[in-house]
Amino acid sequence: MALISTMDSAKKIALVAHDNKKDDLLEWATFNKGTLARHRLYATGTTGTLLSRRLGLVITKLQSGPLGGDQQVGAKISEGEIDFLIFFWDPLAPQPHDPDVKALLRLAVVWNIPVAMNRTTADFLISSPLMAAEYDRRLTDFEDYKNRLQHKM
Ligand code: PGA
Repeated sequence: MALISTMDSAKKIALVAHDNKKDDLLEWATFNKGTLARHRLYATGTTGTLLSRRLGLVITKLQSGPLGGDQQVGAKISEGEIDFLIFFWDPLAPQPHDPDVKALLRLAVVWNIPVAMNRTTADFLISSPLMAAEYDRRLTDFEDYKNRLQHKM
């Protein structure tokens, strides 16, 4: 039987942008402010500060990405506190927290949440009718994995 986690009509969206992509995200978020206002917003530190200043919306700000913010987003995905990720990462600049970026993207796949890594995908996601509806997110059943060493205990 598939495990289901129902996403509410108000999604719990994390917004993250690397420095060279922040203008892009700010422009995109400003254009989509009306839609974003209907959801619960989270962001890494600097992205969140810029977004809340620009949009005037309530945003839960986490630590700055290189200081642990990406890991906080990943942890919240695994706890079900975030179920949607808009992450404009920079493919042309080395990042000090590259392992954290990779870990975050990995967890987004593990927990089967929607992820936009560029503006076009973000446009498609935010204009989906599913944004305003409940959605049954299918989760992998990890019980076998979690119990894999039971016989040794
Ligand atoms: P920032 O972090 O919003 O604090 O700049 C983003 C990131 O680099 O992951």
